[in-house]
Amino acid sequence: MRIFTLIFVALILLLPLVPALSDEARGEVTYVTDGDTITVEGVGVVRLADVNSPELTAPGGPEAKEYTRSWLLGRQVFIDLDNYTGLDRYGRNVGLVFLANVDGTVGENFNCMLVAAGHATVDDVKNNEFESAQCEMSSEPAIFVGSAKSNKYHYPECCWAKKISPKNEVWFLSSMDAKSKGYVPCAVCHPP
Ligand SMILES: [Zn+2]
Repeated sequence: MRIFTLIFVALILLLPLVPALSDEARGEVTYVTDGDTITVEGVGVVRLADVNSPELTAPGGPEAKEYTRSWLLGRQVFIDLDNYTGLDRYGRNVGLVFLANVDGTVGENFNCMLVAAGHATVDDVKNNEFESAQCEMSSEPAIFVGSAKSNKYHYPECCWAKKISPKNEVWFLSSMDAKSKGYVPCAVCHPP
């Protein structure tokens, strides 16, 4: 009887040392550092794998941060952590971040959303377990932007484009792409 108690206690003590079997973590996003770096409760700092957002001091950096903040701050996310390299050289976790659906299932790949929205580029770092952030998308950059709440499309530099909430941004690969989705050129910035 006593030996079983000892084994039981030993197992309980050793439990935290056993690495997680699942590569998935889940938690609430408590802080957004920039477009591609977030802090997740119970996990720590997570650098989105294989994507690069501009630094905060570079053009597009604050917009990328705002996009990530508007989508993730205070929300539950799932993370596929990179078990291949573990922490990166800055001591951050590296991983794919997924939105959590309302029913609690794993939702959209946020790494890919960030790229599709024009707030990051794909950077297929070879020293991790992921392939190009596992996004299925065109390698062509999106060049025009519209809002989910209107039917105008703009050059990203347009003053009206800058008023679009990052959450409502819709990006197009060409004017044909925009027009085929029912959007018309903005009368201020005159995209083709
Ligand atoms: Zn415009």
